[in-house]
Amino acid sequence: MAEKRDYYEILGVAKTATADEIKSAYRKLAMKYHPDRNPDNPEAKEKFTEISEAYEVLSNPEKRQRYDQFGHQGVNFGPGGFDFSRDFSGFQDVDLSDIFSNLFGGGGGFSSFFGGGGQSRRHADATGPRRGDDMTFRLDIDFDEAIFGSERTIDITLPEQCQDCGGTGAAAGSKRVACRRCGGRGAVISGGGFFQVRQTCPDCGGEGSIIDKPCRKCRGSGHVSAPRHIAVKIPAGVDTGSRLLLSGKGAGGLRGGENGDLYILLGVRDSDIFIRDGLDLGVDIPVSPALAALGGTVDVPTPEGIAQLKLPPGTPNGKVFRLRGKGVSSLRGGERGDLSARVVFEVPANLDRRQRAALEEFQKISTDSNFPLRQSFANRMKVFFAHRDKLRK
Ligand SMILES: [Zn+2]
Ligand SMILES: [Zn+2]
Repeated sequence: MAEKRDYYEILGVAKTATADEIKSAYRKLAMKYHPDRNPDNPEAKEKFTEISEAYEVLSNPEKRQRYDQFGHQGVNFGPGGFDFSRDFSGFQDVDLSDIFSNLFGGGGGFSSFFGGGGQSRRHADATGPRRGDDMTFRLDIDFDEAIFGSERTIDITLPEQCQDCGGTGAAAGSKRVACRRCGGRGAVISGGGFFQVRQTCPDCGGEGSIIDKPCRKCRGSGHVSAPRHIAVKIPAGVDTGSRLLLSGKGAGGLRGGENGDLYILLGVRDSDIFIRDGLDLGVDIPVSPALAALGGTVDVPTPEGIAQLKLPPGTPNGKVFRLRGKGVSSLRGGERGDLSARVVFEVPANLDRRQRAALEEFQKISTDSNFPLRQSFANRMKVFFAHRDKLRK
C-alpha cells in the first residue's frame, strides 16, 4: 500500500492552520480539481478525492485531534465497524459517484460517509449511550521482540468519558435545545456557485441539538483527554502488520456507553543479521574461499543459538543450506519455519607476508583442472574470437 500523504500537506496549510484557513484552502483546491471542470481526467478525480478526504478530517476538531495524535490510522475507520480483513486504505475503494451525491446534498451528509457512520448514528440517538471509538496505535518493535515475544508499556492520550457529567456533556439541571446554527438539521450548506458542500454542523456536531448549560469540565463534549499507561503483551511470532486487540481500552463512550477497543498495529524493525519472510529466515554467512575449498564447519546463528553447519569440500559461493525448523515459531505455536544459510565468499584482505607467500605458491602450482569454470570460459572465448576472425576476413 502506498504511503498516504499528510493531510496538511495535501491542503497546503500549516499544522497550526485555523478552521477558516483550512476551509479556504480546501475551497480553492476543490474548485480547481472538481470533476465537472476536469472531465475525463482521472488524475483530477483522484486529487479531488484526496483533498476532500483531507478536508473531512481537518475540518472536524475531534478527528483533527485524533489525526494529529495517531496519523492516518487514527481516523480511517469508523467507530465499531472495524474489520480485520480490511486494510487502512479501505476508504479508497469507494465509488466516486457516491461521494458526489453526498457532496451535492443527498444522503446523510459528507461526514457520515467518510467517517464510517458515526454522525448518522449519533443523530439517530443523541441521548442514549454511545460506545467509544475504536482506536489504533502503531507500535514499532525490534526483530527479536517479534520472534521471542515481549512486554511493553505505551503512553497515549485518549478521550475518556467525563466523570463530572457522566459523558452527557450537560451541567446539572441543563436540557437539550434545538441547535440554532443548523436549525436542528445537523448539517449546514457552505460554498456557492456551482459547487456546494454539505457539512456536519460544527456547533452541534450533527446532533441537531445542543445543551443549554454545558458541563464545565468537558466543555459539553462529554469527553476529557486522559493520559494512559497501558501494558501490552506481545506474543512470540508476530510480524509487521500484526494487530493486537485490547478490548475496552479505546476511546471512552458517551452517556454511559462502554469504551471502544484499542488495536496495536505492530511494525517490526529489520534485523542486522536475519532477513525474514513470514516464518522463514535467511542469513548470509561470510566464508573464506580456502575453507570452502577444503571443507569445514561454520557457525550459523539461529533464534535458538548457534548451529554448526558442515560445508563439504568444494562448496561454491552462493550455495544455500536449508536448516529445517530453525526459523520462526508461528503465533499459534506448532508450526516452525526454516532457516536458509547462504555461503558468501569473502576474499581475504590485509595479507601478511606469510599469507601472501602461501597464496602465491598456490597460484603458481594451481592448474586448469582446479578451475573447470575458468577453463571452459577460456575455451568459449577462443571459439568466439575464431568465429569473429573468420567473419572479418
Ligand atoms: Zn463533562
Ligand atoms: Zn447544529
